[in-house]
Amino acid sequence: MMISRHHVNLAVRKAKKSSCHCKVSAIAWNYKGDLIMTAVNRPRFSKEGGGVHAEMLIMRKKPMAKTILICRINNGGEIRPLHPCAACAEKAKELGIRIISVKEDP
Ligand SMILES: [Zn+2]
Repeated sequence: MMISRHHVNLAVRKAKKSSCHCKVSAIAWNYKGDLIMTAVNRPRFSKEGGGVHAEMLIMRKKPMAKTILICRINNGGEIRPLHPCAACAEKAKELGIRIISVKEDP
C-alpha cells in the first residue's frame, strides 16, 4: 500500500502521545489496507534496556498485520530518522510484515 501525507500526519499526531524521550508511533494495516492498530513506544522496562517498541507491541497483538508505518519525532514535533531495531526487523520477517519508516522529507 502507498503511504500518503494523511498517514504521515496521523503517525506524527500519534507519536506526540508517547511519554518517552524518543517519541515513536506505529500504525498497522491488514492486507486489505484497513487500519487495524496504532501504538506508541512505552518507557516500561526501559531500565533493562530499550523500552517496548511500538512496532513490537503491534506485532504481538496483531501478527496478521501486513504493513506497519513507524515514525519518530523530536520534542519540537519534527520527524527524525528511524530504523526498526534488529529484534523488530527479525520478528517482522518471520511474520511477513513490511515495516516502513516515515522519512524526514517525504
Ligand atoms: Zn524494535
